[in-house]
Amino acid sequence: MPEGRFAPSPTGDLHLGNLRTALLAWLFARTSGSAFRVRMEDLDTARVRPGSAEGQLADLRALGLDWDGPVEHQSARAHLYARALDRLEAEGRVYPCFCTRAEIREAASAPHGPRPEGAYPGTCLTLSAAERAGRTAEGRLPALRFRASHLAAVTVTDRLLGEVSGHVDDFVLRRGDGTFAYNLAVVVDDAEQGIGEVVRGADLLESTPRQVVLARALGLPVAAYAHVPLVLGPDGSRLAKRHGAVTLRGVGARPPAVLSALAASVGLAAAREAVTPADLLDRFVPERLTALSTTWDPAAPDPLGALARRC
Ligand code: GLU
Repeated sequence: MPEGRFAPSPTGDLHLGNLRTALLAWLFARTSGSAFRVRMEDLDTARVRPGSAEGQLADLRALGLDWDGPVEHQSARAHLYARALDRLEAEGRVYPCFCTRAEIREAASAPHGPRPEGAYPGTCLTLSAAERAGRTAEGRLPALRFRASHLAAVTVTDRLLGEVSGHVDDFVLRRGDGTFAYNLAVVVDDAEQGIGEVVRGADLLESTPRQVVLARALGLPVAAYAHVPLVLGPDGSRLAKRHGAVTLRGVGARPPAVLSALAASVGLAAAREAVTPADLLDRFVPERLTALSTTWDPAAPDPLGALARRC
């Protein structure tokens, strides 16, 4: 049976946007009779905070969400990513990249730089063996990139947003410090865990063409996708810690009140209506989810009430 998942990065407490995404991912999975998995995306050890994974799981439980099987941690799955990388390397789909961030920025902003903005300009694609050896001798540790830039635009069908096309650049598979990159790990994990539908925040939509291309290159099944609307901060950018009290413990309300406001913000409950996740299952129709994002304004007299009214 295809499964659903929520895959947070344990880099701090979940904010209201993450919590709403978790609720929606849970609803998508449970209404289709799928299992629901939680996966901790903890590969970026510099950003992982001790205790954060436990805190995030406690918050999901406090909202009344449950999941199947053990929580997987990407840090324990490096062998799977290494095997996938070996396969790509054997097929000539990988090349080392010695560029620093500054060099990429500079090359990408050149007048004839690659589009879309920020795409890897391909500097290291054509390095000779001697040039590679020279850079290695300088002590540079290469990242490994996926050779993709010759591909045409990739079109992905999203359950909520319809057809979305994007060009795929030569993205990183493994960083210079040896850390496997998000795109590689997520594709390997979603396939290995049998995830049939990936439900996540719309901010990750731009990664999706890369992930589809990578899944195909690895001979893995391509998941279905549903990118759900974001909760934004008062400045219109994606909700983040810098917006203040944005976490379950920070908003100063009991978890049931937060669940109610999150449900109301996507049209699944009336403002302040007491609901349980099970109530929401009966009401949830994925296609009725609005694509509009919601704004969280901690300075409003009643921020949770305002969130609920924004549906
Ligand atoms: N770990 C990612 C995040 O917290 C989500 C990855 C995904 O859902 O594909 O932003």
